[in-house]
Amino acid sequence: MQHFSIWSLLRNSMSYHEGWQKQWRSPEPKREYDVVVVGGGGHGLATAYYLAKEHGLRNIAVIEKGYLGGGNTARNTTIVRSNYLWDESTALYEKSMQLWEGLSQDLNYNVMFSQRGVLNLGHTLQEMRDIERRVNANRLNGVDGEVVTPAQIKEMIPYINLNTRYPVLGASLQRRGGVARHDAVAWGFARAADARGVDLIQNCEVTGIRREGGAVVGVDTVKGFIKAKKVAIVAAGHSSVMASMADIRLPIESKPLQALVSEPLKPIFPCVLMSNAIHAYISQSDKGDLVIGAGVDQYNGYGQRGSYHTIEHTLQAIVEMFPMFSRVRMNRQWGGIVDVSPDACPIIGLTPVKGLYINCGWGTGGFKATPGSGWAMAHTVAQDRPHALNEALSLNRFYNGHLIDEHGAAGVAH
Ligand SMILES: Cc1cc2nc3c(=O)[nH]c(=O)nc-3n(C[C@H](O)[C@H](O)[C@H](O)COP(=O)(O)OP(=O)(O)OC[C@H]3O[C@@H](n4cnc5c(N)ncnc54)[C@H](O)[C@@H]3O)c2cc1C
Repeated sequence: MQHFSIWSLLRNSMSYHEGWQKQWRSPEPKREYDVVVVGGGGHGLATAYYLAKEHGLRNIAVIEKGYLGGGNTARNTTIVRSNYLWDESTALYEKSMQLWEGLSQDLNYNVMFSQRGVLNLGHTLQEMRDIERRVNANRLNGVDGEVVTPAQIKEMIPYINLNTRYPVLGASLQRRGGVARHDAVAWGFARAADARGVDLIQNCEVTGIRREGGAVVGVDTVKGFIKAKKVAIVAAGHSSVMASMADIRLPIESKPLQALVSEPLKPIFPCVLMSNAIHAYISQSDKGDLVIGAGVDQYNGYGQRGSYHTIEHTLQAIVEMFPMFSRVRMNRQWGGIVDVSPDACPIIGLTPVKGLYINCGWGTGGFKATPGSGWAMAHTVAQDRPHALNEALSLNRFYNGHLIDEHGAAGVAH
């Protein structure tokens, strides 16, 4: 694999940067694979990478209907944190956080992970009690967290208006939280997976899942049938569509979620700030854009756009907290399709079909889990059983009632 270093940069600058090799190959699909991963987003690519790296599998393909990282991976607002409420989810998000902390080195690809801190504001006494409870739970789980006062928030962001219609009473702060560059995450995993022999097949929609005697035997695609011993569905907003190809009904609703960015500004916003009560969040990208988002649109659908009133409401909330941003021009707005589960927790595990595995339900908050999700999914697929980290996150919880309700951790669950 081509190694990125200051020396390779210098060497290539001598030849006008024309000598860089392609980041990954574009092979034609083979007739048969040990594992086919459906979905070339961050989670699918990370699954393939860890299958090769941690479990020594080589005959793997990632099948993507569009281009790598063109789904939610490229559409999210890149907030990374691990301060969830319940032990089961915290454990997985914290595993992910630990992988983030060494990811650029592991992939030899700069994913621009920036631990600039995430604030979750509290605007009511009840919200502050919930924040205190969550921070205590986090600390008991070894996850960093602190409760900060309005004065401390003002110190971090001097121009914030704390006396909004719902005054800011405090916040939780996870200093290890932050942001990363989303497409670099997809490209980094893709490049590293390719280097370990994974075939990355783009523009190849999966149209069917073939089974024989209750076990999966392969997938039908627009490029023909591909035989596979195991198939992993990692298709985010299209998970229900994929699962229905194997006659499985998932407890998932697919909804549009929007975001928008402003024109680039000089560095002005030092951290990530989220508010559940007024339903908006904001950070600044390394390019300088203010990155703004909110909650899901209220209707189900597969259109990758959202409704105007959601965006309007979000901007009202942002401008109320940061009046000086009222004169900033917005550059782009877009939507993605998020896969929302009833308890706001992901589903990673086996399905009733032998050899078929599912990873979905990340809803509005799966980007932060990309490395951890891929790591746990790879273990599940390779060993044909969940890892302790995702045992509680199986489909079974919707039958036995052991739900893990993370709605309380953040109304805006990013
Ligand atoms: C606007 C927005 C803001 C968000 N903000 C945050 C945030 O700040 N922090 C956070 O942690 N999370 C956030 N999320 C959620 C996060 O983006 C997702 O949970 C995460 O990216 C899911 O990754 P993935 O790899 O599973 O999905 P995707 O990147 O969507 O990958 C799934 C892939 O499957 C492919 N696919 C689907 N059907 C087929 C088929 N039939 N055949 C082949 N391929 C198929 C798709 O084309 C797609 O590329 C946000 C999401 C959105 C939309």
